[in-house]
Amino acid sequence: MIHPYTEIKFISPEVGYGVFATNKIPMGTIVYVKDDLEIMISQEDYPKYSESLKKIIDRYSYIDPEGYRIISWDFAKYTNHCCDPNTISTGYGFEIAIKDIEPGEQITDEYGIFNLDHEIHLSCDKPNCRKVVCNEDFDKYYHEWDKKILPALEKIPYVEQPLYEFIDEITKKELEEFFKDHSKYKSVYHLRFKKVRK
Ligand SMILES: [Zn+2]
Repeated sequence: MIHPYTEIKFISPEVGYGVFATNKIPMGTIVYVKDDLEIMISQEDYPKYSESLKKIIDRYSYIDPEGYRIISWDFAKYTNHCCDPNTISTGYGFEIAIKDIEPGEQITDEYGIFNLDHEIHLSCDKPNCRKVVCNEDFDKYYHEWDKKILPALEKIPYVEQPLYEFIDEITKKELEEFFKDHSKYKSVYHLRFKKVRK
């Protein structure tokens, strides 16, 4: 579920849709939570879909640490990648604003955390654009991502959090631990899907 202060807009035929802030969303705000309504496709079921449906699944899903392909029931799935994003996934499963997002600004995300099994070519026009996102990005960049996440995570208790109630109880406990003791931080690397070879 995406934050309520957002709307979907058509950008261009090349990019398609994007998600934009309707109100200010301060740094430290939880912007996306995987709630119980999300569509979850297991590793076992994915091969059973037709090639056309697989293309749709690949376009709109991310892969969680257990290998499930998650497709949002709402328009969270239209969030575009940026190599200098304003939101990012955390080791706690939800996504967080890592800077203040102004009304009208596009909500952007880091696809390198999605455990992609295909490459995505980029056109995000940032000077540090990686040009392509791939599965190996996770191992390469997670230290950098943790550095961006940590200061945002510390702000969670101090900003409005309409999505907090949708976080599961175990994660809430982990967050409480973190707020008391920042050394309990759970790295974004917890989202890495470790494939079991058969
Ligand atoms: Zn880029």
